[in-house]
Amino acid sequence: MKQLSEKIAAVAPSATLSISDKAKKMQREGIDVISLSIGEPDFDTPRHIKDACIDALNRGETHYSPSNGIPELLTAISEKISSENHFPCRPDQVIVTCGAKDAIYEAMEAVLNPGDETILITPAWVSYEPCVQIAGGKVVKHAINEKTFQLDDSLLERVNTKTKMIVVNSPSNPSGAVFDTNSMKLVADICQDYDIYAISDEIYEKLVYAKEHISLAAIGDMAERTITINGFSKSYAMTGWRLGYAVAPVEIIRQMSKVQQHSVSQAVTFAMWGAVAALKGDQRCVVEMRTEFDRRRKYILSELNRMGYETAPAEGAFYAFVNVGGDDVQTATRWLEQGHVAVMPGSAFYAPGWIRLSYATSMEKLKNAMDRIQKLGRN
Ligand code: PMP
Ligand code: GLU
Repeated sequence: MKQLSEKIAAVAPSATLSISDKAKKMQREGIDVISLSIGEPDFDTPRHIKDACIDALNRGETHYSPSNGIPELLTAISEKISSENHFPCRPDQVIVTCGAKDAIYEAMEAVLNPGDETILITPAWVSYEPCVQIAGGKVVKHAINEKTFQLDDSLLERVNTKTKMIVVNSPSNPSGAVFDTNSMKLVADICQDYDIYAISDEIYEKLVYAKEHISLAAIGDMAERTITINGFSKSYAMTGWRLGYAVAPVEIIRQMSKVQQHSVSQAVTFAMWGAVAALKGDQRCVVEMRTEFDRRRKYILSELNRMGYETAPAEGAFYAFVNVGGDDVQTATRWLEQGHVAVMPGSAFYAPGWIRLSYATSMEKLKNAMDRIQKLGRN
């Protein structure tokens, strides 16, 4: 038999999905595993969002829609971006995708040529590098200062004539850090000085505690070269709906649109009506979920610190990033096999020695998990 694609063979499977699948398998086998591995809100999708989707189904919104998304959602997104994220956005600068992940993938395909370099600030989420690889590009990693979790001038050392793009993710998965104005301005200056595109993944923008979220596209003329990624999974507890979006200059949206037309065609029509309700409806649900995440965040950080672990800033998203020192994969395996607590080893995010715990789960489970980790003791 002829060899399968070398390009795909070189891509690593998703570590987040693999560990969560392993935890689910253990649960099915009757083992009482507490999973702090995957970043998925434990809340149900708010009622009014589900109702809008059910209404759409009952109205017969069960056919193809325009490939970039239903006009009502494109308008709702453009209004949200212009008013909340402080940069101008027209509906033709928006594409609705099958999750934010799909938007990231389409963006990479739209911008990168073979051999083009993309700067990835590490620790970084697991899917950026594979998306760059599938698009034929090359990742250049820049390790963040693990004390401040902010950027400094050393970022410039990664730039050369092949640099085409930089990926910024604030609030960050996995560290929970939120970039301040200086870090964002530094990225903007470098992009403008060296003609570099940016992907700004802002999927956790609604989950910021005691700090301000800054959109990269709102700085200077960055809207001309930034693809802003966002979605509904985290803010509105809609992970299974597979709905995300990108906002970018029209030339980039046109490129992404071709990838979408020839692959998934569009996001699910009736699901998009739920997203319209999410954006235009009462935002109290977002505040309630954020308040609860914040309560859990304070609890888990204080427990981990009490056990003597150093933690990253945890200013946003729903992850505690913990410095366990030594072999993180071994520690994560021990926590899972002996303590029945599933977590993500930092190595999956290019941060050996660290472990990511998702606190998007109930307080009761978190308390139980902390007890188990405490009992296991340090290696
Ligand atoms: N970006 C980041 C940083 C994430 O953590 C996730 C997690 N799912 C995504 C994008 C993709 O989200 P989704 O495809 O569910 O919209
Ligand atoms: N983004 C979440 C995580 O990091 C969900 C899983 C995934 O899409 O990778 O756990």
